[in-house]
Amino acid sequence: MLEAFVHHWPTMPRDYLPIDVVRRVREAARYRCGYCLSPQRLVMARLEVEHVIPRARGGSDDESNLWLSCPLCNRAKGDRVAATDDETGVMVPLFHPRQQRWSDHFRWSDDGLRIIGRTPIGRATVAALHLDDDPDALIVRSFWILAGWHPPEVE
Ligand SMILES: [Zn+2]
Repeated sequence: MLEAFVHHWPTMPRDYLPIDVVRRVREAARYRCGYCLSPQRLVMARLEVEHVIPRARGGSDDESNLWLSCPLCNRAKGDRVAATDDETGVMVPLFHPRQQRWSDHFRWSDDGLRIIGRTPIGRATVAALHLDDDPDALIVRSFWILAGWHPPEVE
């Protein structure tokens, strides 16, 4: 596997994490994106281990700062740690998928297509990560709904 290969590469760049850490993070995240909940079994691309607080913002490689993200959410999040909640105009931290419960901050729209923020953190994260309006995600989710695979169980 790629992770094993890069782990043993003699000039291992610091971008790579030990294979056992990657395995534990993937398992703890139940093999799904911490933001849009897309499961690995339905995503063609490999879900990525992301730094919740990006290294560029002082986040560490410690497991407590690592979670799984799909490529869409990871790209949209970028190096951000906070965003503005349009409803209150307040800058708030982005959702922390390891420390916070998804259902406290988000819910699915009635048709299951979009994620809706329930709190300032939820709304700011929805806007920053395009959890309600990414055109590719909306199309894919519409087919998951047709197949009966979506929306997923949340806790
Ligand atoms: Zn995602």
